[in-house]
Amino acid sequence: MTPRDGAPLYDAVVVGAGFGGMGAAIQLDRLGLRDFVILEREADLGGTWHVNRYPGLAVDIASVTYSYSFEPNPHWSRLFAPGAELKKYAEHIADKYALRDRMRFGTTVESAHWDAGQQHWVVAISGGESLTARYLLTATGFLSQPYTPPFPGIESFAGKIIHTTDWDADHDLTDRRVAIIGTGATSVQLVPEVAARARALTVFQRTPIWVVPKVDMAIPPAVQRLFARIPVSQKAARLVNTSLLEALMVVGVLHYRQARPLNKAAALLARAHLRTQVRDERVREQLTPHYDFGCKRPTFSNRYFTTFNKPHVRLETESIERIEPGGIVTADGTETQIDTLILATGFNLWDVNFPAFEIIGRDGVDLGKFWRENRFQAYEGITVPKFPNFLSLNSPYSYSGLSYFTTIEAQMKHMGRLFRELRRRGETTFEVSERANSEFLDRVTEKLGSSVFYGGDCATARSYYFNQHGEAALLRPTSTVSAHREAVRFPLDDYVYGPAGRP
Ligand code: NAP
Repeated sequence: MTPRDGAPLYDAVVVGAGFGGMGAAIQLDRLGLRDFVILEREADLGGTWHVNRYPGLAVDIASVTYSYSFEPNPHWSRLFAPGAELKKYAEHIADKYALRDRMRFGTTVESAHWDAGQQHWVVAISGGESLTARYLLTATGFLSQPYTPPFPGIESFAGKIIHTTDWDADHDLTDRRVAIIGTGATSVQLVPEVAARARALTVFQRTPIWVVPKVDMAIPPAVQRLFARIPVSQKAARLVNTSLLEALMVVGVLHYRQARPLNKAAALLARAHLRTQVRDERVREQLTPHYDFGCKRPTFSNRYFTTFNKPHVRLETESIERIEPGGIVTADGTETQIDTLILATGFNLWDVNFPAFEIIGRDGVDLGKFWRENRFQAYEGITVPKFPNFLSLNSPYSYSGLSYFTTIEAQMKHMGRLFRELRRRGETTFEVSERANSEFLDRVTEKLGSSVFYGGDCATARSYYFNQHGEAALLRPTSTVSAHREAVRFPLDDYVYGPAGRP
């Protein structure tokens, strides 16, 4: 392929070969924009499900819902499938939809800029190569930049350090003295697994997490056969589960002010769960959150709390002062001797993500600076004024509902409506208007006023839902039904079509 007469090398460059990037690529194919490349920094596809390989990894949204609606998998082994099955599902999607050959692995995008003269994107990848494309789609994930806190002395630690996103399966934990720092959803899955192997385990907790019982089970082969033979049966199961999640999100989180008792009931359930599972009253108190349910993504487990009953497992709530060659010293001067340090310290969303690399739009506007100096914003969670022909799939206010697939599929619908309109007009360039973007931002800001984020007590949650300005700018505060409806009905004149930035 060579550029002809200033035409770009590709119809589109998609950045990210996870489920978001693959969904967008499937939609590009359906829209006839078949000449695209998917750039992926990792060595293989699957995004989160390629990177995360720690023991205990499983999906936390039931698998009938956590999958593309147009590509059900009747063979999930459990209600909540283990991580390896998600990775296999991602591979199946790449093969079935002929995406693999269009992926380039080990390819890190360093920057992208809009070339106003040529009306296309120039994408710079590490190693010095540049690609050009009519459209740029970023699907770089929300939780894709691992975070390691700058603990003083961490570089002097003499043992093994493992971040959960870089699991070393060759490091045998048998008989080790292990510390896990962090008590988010990853830690909740990992702690029971590490406790089962290690000689001693200390879990360093700064903020406790709400944990409710996990209703999980193996899916019997007879049910898998039923799902395979009569797909509508699995569709019905998906509908029931998705509706439950929707109710939880809409009523418990987004309409907190109107439905406070329901939110309180969820917290009561989590407290009761803790009471039945942990014998020691002091440990129970330490594991109890003092912020409202939903301020931070809650999680499910039947094994996390009980792990703290084991004699070789200890919960440490003193803050970490420094790390020494042989262990961790807390603020009270106590040193915990360890030989393996596991960092379940999550991801940096707001400083190094949004966007994941430098993106320069029309008139030299830098997306990262624009978001930080103004407010984080994106029309319908997908497009930004001054960024023509750019779809930012992991944007502020884009995450809709609890399963990421509801977001992906709403965005695929948005793409469908937008690109069909472009074709109808015989144009190749689009840009969202400033007016449509501001109206959307005003609307989500107002709606968030009813949510637990502003109506509830989130002061001590330290939740990644909030950005550096204290705004809960990650989740789209509407039902997923409304997000999908808007994706197929948004006013077409919210976009300007035709050469961008020209009078
Ligand atoms: P996380 O929720 O951000 O948790 C990070 C943990 O590290 C928190 O407990 C945090 O404490 C702690 N931490 C960070 N800096 C620290 C410091 N300087 N000192 C002490 N502790 C520190 O990350 P995660 O557990 O990886 O989960 C992220 C998200 O991934 C989840 O919310 C979920 O959406 C997703 N996830 C999904 C699954 C699944 O589908 N099965 C599994 C795992 C994760 P603070 O709270 O005090 O900051």
